[in-house]
Amino acid sequence: MEKLIITVAPTGSKPRKENTPHVPVTTEEIVADALRCERAGAAVLHIHVRDEAQRPSDDPRRFREVVEALCGRTQLILQVSTGGRAGADLESRRRRLATDVEMASLTTGSVNFPNSAYINPPDLIAGLAEEMKRRAIKPEIEVFDLAMLHNAIDLMNAGLVDAPLHFNFVMGLKGAMPARVEHLAHLRLFLPPDATWSVSAVGAAQLPMAVHAILMGGHVRVGLEDNIYYRKGELATNVMLVERIVEISRMLGRAVASPDEARQILRLKHLKTKCG
Ligand code: ZN
Repeated sequence: MEKLIITVAPTGSKPRKENTPHVPVTTEEIVADALRCERAGAAVLHIHVRDEAQRPSDDPRRFREVVEALCGRTQLILQVSTGGRAGADLESRRRRLATDVEMASLTTGSVNFPNSAYINPPDLIAGLAEEMKRRAIKPEIEVFDLAMLHNAIDLMNAGLVDAPLHFNFVMGLKGAMPARVEHLAHLRLFLPPDATWSVSAVGAAQLPMAVHAILMGGHVRVGLEDNIYYRKGELATNVMLVERIVEISRMLGRAVASPDEARQILRLKHLKTKCG
């Protein structure tokens, strides 16, 4: 089986220091945690940034600061979030792509979160996809339900996204797809044959769904963005979550991909991290 790509999502939009002291929110904290996770076996870093009050930020300077601080110090594939919690309009989300990283997230539809709606209208999705294509940034298609998978295939057929597609199935978030292996098996039926996929499940579902993905030939995303616990009542660090997946995958006989091996699996156009 193909080597396992581990993505770490260390920060996200939600957890704050009062929820867990382990969540990295400043540039220094994010960079230090990213380097530790790389040593532990992560290949991709999914980046969100925060402002001084820990609120999600869409300031491109903050994204650039993280990317530049990592430049030359890491082999990690850097993936910028274009998620909407930190400013919903196309321009504010497109500006984050100016950091010229190798990957960025692209959510191909709208979904309800527990207390809000995450709105991604067709023109915004197309605008982000176009900008990624122009900058040779590979999208990670974030799939919260089945329609988003098919929307991504439509974008590919329309020439807005290049094959092979890479999907991340977000599961277990209230309002979206439940974290069930049956859903995973169903989604997989409709993937283009050359597509790659990973799973990021939320909360207590993170571990079991990651194990299903390892066994099914998918890839795994872990990190405090989606889950702050190691086990019930015990807070995790990002490194602990990465280390556990490395150990389980090796126990199951599946080797873990280095960042450069991940670049080959994902068919990234740029075979090294772009700086600047
Ligand atoms: Zn994210």
